[in-house]
Amino acid sequence: MAYKSGFIALIGAPNVGKSTLMNALLGQKLSIVSSRPQTTRNRIVGVKHVPGGQFVFLDTPGILEPKGLLNQALVQAALKTIGDVNLVLLLIEPFAGQAPIPEGLAQKLIRLKPPVFLIINKIDLIDKRDLLPLINRMATLFSFQEIIPLSALKKEGLAILEQKIFEVLPEGPPYFPEEMVTDLSERFLVGEIIREKIFRLTSREVPYAVAVTVESFKEREDKPLIHIQATIHVERDSQKGILIGKGGGMLKTIAQQARQDMERLLGTKVFLEVWVRVEKNWSRDSRQIRRFGYEEA
Ligand code: GDP
Ligand code: MG
Repeated sequence: MAYKSGFIALIGAPNVGKSTLMNALLGQKLSIVSSRPQTTRNRIVGVKHVPGGQFVFLDTPGILEPKGLLNQALVQAALKTIGDVNLVLLLIEPFAGQAPIPEGLAQKLIRLKPPVFLIINKIDLIDKRDLLPLINRMATLFSFQEIIPLSALKKEGLAILEQKIFEVLPEGPPYFPEEMVTDLSERFLVGEIIREKIFRLTSREVPYAVAVTVESFKEREDKPLIHIQATIHVERDSQKGILIGKGGGMLKTIAQQARQDMERLLGTKVFLEVWVRVEKNWSRDSRQIRRFGYEEA
């Protein structure tokens, strides 16, 4: 049988369970990559290897996020991205009394090329008798190719989803090698965002002397907020001075811009704290390099 592969966009409002579903689907055989092929807004968050195929999951921020956070252009860019994928997984929660699909989204979906699966997540939290009316109601909103109720947390219904995904994916090459197990987590990506801001905002000599470690990455239980503490490591006091800037202005700009990107990546508010630390000659010390997660050249 021919090998099948394709790109799958996961979309849905914050907190519907996108990350939980991704982690549940990826399970052990996990390759997460942060590469940015072609367009910068195609963010590959995970690759799942299955017998005879490969699922490449994409994070396409911006479609369902709260109004005001993102401008129309960004929404359009995100829509364009999901227009190019092979499958869209739209996640919703099954709770009564809320509009499960934001106004206007159904209209936008209609214009898309790829098939859309509606994933009704968190069914462990509702009376199963409420499910059928919900499915019927959603079916009138849009011609979803599949409507799949599941619980990402309890890992119920995942096998069916995987089977349906495999069915719709086209024949294609393995985009990523099987042995790629880089284990880049959201935590890692957060560090990369800070490094990217440093590259953009500071003079040339600083970035190459920089490493970023994320000391703490804590999701608050009581509200949608992630508290992140990170350290920027540099080699010399002069570099620390540049990074901090006049009156702390540079560090503030770095942190502010990084936080905005993180919120987009994570789909939630972020409280970010960043420190700068001088560690003499870290870039020449292979033990230190490993600690910071870089390969030795
Ligand atoms: P995201 O913002 O869409 O990525 O949502 P998360 O994956 O971070 O999940 C948000 C919250 O919903 C977390 O507290 C999860 O544990 C919870 N959650 C996700 N899926 C399920 C589910 O199937 N059942 C239940 N009860 N909780 C879930
Ligand atoms: Mg998430």
